[in-house]
Amino acid sequence: MGLYDFDQEWFEDFLTEYPAFRVRQLMHGLYGNFLLPADIVGLPAPLRSKLSLEDKLRPTLTELARSSSDRGQTTKYLFRLHDGAQIESVLMHSPKRSTICISSQAGCAMACEFCATGDAGFKRHLSVGEIIEQVIVAARDAKKDGRRLDHIVYMGMGEPLANYNPVLASVRRLLDYVGLSARKITLSTVGIVPGIKKLSGEKLPVNLAVSLHAANDTLRSQLVPINKKYPIDMLIEACREYLEKTNRRISFEWALIKDVNDSERDALELADLALSLTPSAHVNLIPLNPTSGGEVLHFSPSPLRQIQNFYSTLSGLGVNATIRRTRGQDIDAACGQLSARISLSRRSDY
Ligand code: SAH
Repeated sequence: MGLYDFDQEWFEDFLTEYPAFRVRQLMHGLYGNFLLPADIVGLPAPLRSKLSLEDKLRPTLTELARSSSDRGQTTKYLFRLHDGAQIESVLMHSPKRSTICISSQAGCAMACEFCATGDAGFKRHLSVGEIIEQVIVAARDAKKDGRRLDHIVYMGMGEPLANYNPVLASVRRLLDYVGLSARKITLSTVGIVPGIKKLSGEKLPVNLAVSLHAANDTLRSQLVPINKKYPIDMLIEACREYLEKTNRRISFEWALIKDVNDSERDALELADLALSLTPSAHVNLIPLNPTSGGEVLHFSPSPLRQIQNFYSTLSGLGVNATIRRTRGQDIDAACGQLSARISLSRRSDY
């Protein structure tokens, strides 16, 4: 357990000898200003030292390395957790926004064919504190650069809906104290149907992204093995229920893989699914990022021309789509490249 594993109620119990406003001040310092207890100068000195001396109230992420790309606009962090497990997160600045892409598990059990995280296997779930601390570290760094972290995407290592309770607790804590709106938080799922259904009932207007990648079961079961358990019909039904309950548009993610899922026929199938939802799904096209597993399987990114054709077919049918700009590919920080392994050729970056 670490500093960010504890909620306001816990601190109220821990600090019974102090008035309630001290706890609110502490929460504001921790989550609003990204400070450690020792640095929250508004708190009385004895309180600061009580907090700082408490073993379980220390931060738990050790930064092992960081690398940067896109002229300093993309930073990848490699952290070691208390038990030696490793995770990565990626901070991305663009002129309009600063986004942190965080991990929800160390490794991933989903084993999607084209993803480096899945390739490396599953280690363990992250605690709520370990999830939140990634945001705090990035927010603190962004602030140093005169930027304000304003978007959070659960698109790093792991499957957020397979670690449901800590992920949801982290979302709620970030909403309550960091002052972000739910619309700026995106949960991405491989398509865990019970998780989507549960999320429908949470009354949390976060964005939901579904990693679709194929619109027929034969291909999807090959690319995304969990499809055998939760096939497309079931998945779309869960999306429909989510839409009915939340009225929040869903997005579909689609990594474009040369000669695998980038044909005209694939685009037509995808358009059918996207338009079968109301409001229709937004499609995020991601040019495939290289991973070592992918090379073994001879997966390669679709050529630009094919990506443009795919996009035009979708738009021609009235499907809202965007082509996601790839960030940090040269430092293995792009979608599907996070493996928390320092590759030999890149070791000098760290
Ligand atoms: N497990 C969740 C969160 C990961 S988000 C999920 O599956 O949604 C990371 C996104 O990048 C997912 O859409 C994933 O399918 C996609 N991705 C994985 N490998 C990729 C690759 N090599 N190139 C492009 N996108 C990839």
